[in-house]
Amino acid sequence: MDSIGFASHDHTRCITSGLTAVDSYCAQNGLKFTAVRRRVLEILLQQHRALGAYEILDYLRREGLGSQPPVAYRALDFLVKHGFVHKIERLNAFIACTHPGSPHTPVFMICRECTSVAEAQREPMQGQLGAVARAAGFLIERTVVEAEGLCPKCQDLPE
Ligand SMILES: [Zn+2]
Ligand SMILES: [Zn+2]
Ligand SMILES: [Zn+2]
Repeated sequence: MDSIGFASHDHTRCITSGLTAVDSYCAQNGLKFTAVRRRVLEILLQQHRALGAYEILDYLRREGLGSQPPVAYRALDFLVKHGFVHKIERLNAFIACTHPGSPHTPVFMICRECTSVAEAQREPMQGQLGAVARAAGFLIERTVVEAEGLCPKCQDLPE
């Protein structure tokens, strides 16, 4: 399992490589990566934290990219549909994917203190759940795993 977000890393590279990956994926697949879609992804890439649609809309409004909720929702729909952004059901918020353009089953680790979110990957048919599913003759296509707890930074804080 690889995860990013809680580990220290070169965050500037994290933003540029995320945008570049989506840029080339859109170019290869004939998808329109409009200015608003691009900016929404960039806002999400800048923080390893889940943002609600209204928080994103606040950015867009300040920057003159749009002030109506559908502007943010449409951009998010596009980004989620193509796997560039994931929705965190638990928080009703969104985070940028850490490996856009490649099919994967994410597992989210959500810090209840600072709402930072790290993404890891796993194989849905492996592990205990996979074993249970196989025994039942069930083929898992999608799982949503959202684990809640404390990130390394917040564990270090005194109570
Ligand atoms: Zn980063
Ligand atoms: Zn992802
Ligand atoms: Zn935290």
